[in-house]
Amino acid sequence: MIQLYIPLNFLGFVYREIKHSLADMEKMFDLMGEPREVEDAPDARALNSREVTVSFEQVAFAYEEKRPILHDVSFSIPAGRTVAVVGTSGAGKSTLSRLLFRFYDVQQGRVCINGEDIRSLSQESLRRHIGIVPQDTVLFNDSIYYNIAYGRPDASREEVIEAARAAHIHDFVSSLPDGYDTLVGERGLKLSGGEKQRVAIARTILKNPPILVLDEATSALDSRTEQAIQEELRQIASNRTTLIVAHRLSTIVHADTILVMEGGRIIEQGTHSELLDQSGTYARMWALQQQVES
Ligand code: ATP
Repeated sequence: MIQLYIPLNFLGFVYREIKHSLADMEKMFDLMGEPREVEDAPDARALNSREVTVSFEQVAFAYEEKRPILHDVSFSIPAGRTVAVVGTSGAGKSTLSRLLFRFYDVQQGRVCINGEDIRSLSQESLRRHIGIVPQDTVLFNDSIYYNIAYGRPDASREEVIEAARAAHIHDFVSSLPDGYDTLVGERGLKLSGGEKQRVAIARTILKNPPILVLDEATSALDSRTEQAIQEELRQIASNRTTLIVAHRLSTIVHADTILVMEGGRIIEQGTHSELLDQSGTYARMWALQQQVES
């Protein structure tokens, strides 16, 4: 029992401190102007769809040749549905979202959108269809306005403010002396974890993507803010094809399907109640978290 608890919480926390978050990667790729790992196929097609089914088909992947990370991973997220991934730290959960974003190409199998291999799509169009609310939002050293508008740079000021309202950050921003022109990031106003997440949510609402990736924070927020943000995320996830990388099981009980990963494999999958009935790893993790939280 204790063995499961330690990786899920303590090691997860330490590990997260040292790795690049998805936001870092997104920013880094942006700053470099183009992705390093993958190239568009010469005849790459632009994806243009609001109804999007995502599927992983027998995917195998390694960052480094001698260290396989994912083995034979297959699952699908029907359009508008939510799949959550849980499992021990380092199991490969965030790797799934990196592959969907095509930061890397799979070595075996396929990642598909509406049955089409994402390697045949242009990266620009693929990424335009995906919104990420990462575990640790990295803000640009720029104004709050810029940080939200980044979700869709051609948005009007009204649309940016509307997104901020929907993410429940507008009142806070308006109360600052410089309002939306307030500089944030390392050299500006330090926002709290919850405020940063709300900026990321506003950015995603503005982007309005058909696919959503939520990489859940482990412990950054107080429980009231956490609950409010969970509720907002649930709202923006409804009707979008959503992949949640989860650390707290309580936030994903309503997912259409839960995948349990261990050592780069999916070892169980089903709804919350189906997995409890199986009395396997998920059921043990659930019992453990109930104990810890009570
Ligand atoms: P956590 O719950 O701690 O966030 P996770 O299940 O999301 O973990 P991943 O981030 O998918 O785990 O990482 C899976 C494995 O891949 C880890 O062992 C990690 O060391 C390795 N890994 C991740 N990113 C890279 C990288 N850029 N280069 C090499 N190895 C990496």
